[in-house]
Amino acid sequence: MKKIRCPKCDEPIAFDPARYEPGSSLVFECPQCGKQFRIRLPARREEAEEAARPVAGTLLVVENAFHTEQTLPLYAGRNVIGREVRGTNINCPVKTVDPSMDTLHCRIDVDTDKQGRPRFTLSDGPSGTGTFVGTEILGDRERRRIEDGAIITLGATTLILQTGSGDAQTN
Ligand SMILES: [Zn+2]
Repeated sequence: MKKIRCPKCDEPIAFDPARYEPGSSLVFECPQCGKQFRIRLPARREEAEEAARPVAGTLLVVENAFHTEQTLPLYAGRNVIGREVRGTNINCPVKTVDPSMDTLHCRIDVDTDKQGRPRFTLSDGPSGTGTFVGTEILGDRERRRIEDGAIITLGATTLILQTGSGDAQTN
């Protein structure tokens, strides 16, 4: 069984994706609020490609009063970051009780440059408390290129980008 969340009231709705054709479009009616919404199941080929994606980098979540240290893998494509809640639909959830981190707080898009090296681009949710790189808050529609060692703050939570390039400046 899989769970999705009602886009209107956040009610979790369970369904069995094995009962449907890959790639098909499903319509749900929320039992809580009656909202109708549509989702598309991934085609198997896409899922297989997804599973085979190499890790482009990681996010180190620094331990604090709300959570222990965690390492989150980042993949090519869009990584959606936020506080993990039951049935969450994002692909990069943080296990934390930090109430100032939104359940969808920011995104890191990973693509590659001409040399095939991964590039990391950060953008805000939009979130309630904003997304910071160092001490600078990102603008509403800003897309900020971030490098190895970038310090990202989401609410009361600090994350450090680790690209595995191994050439971080030490000055
Ligand atoms: Zn609902």
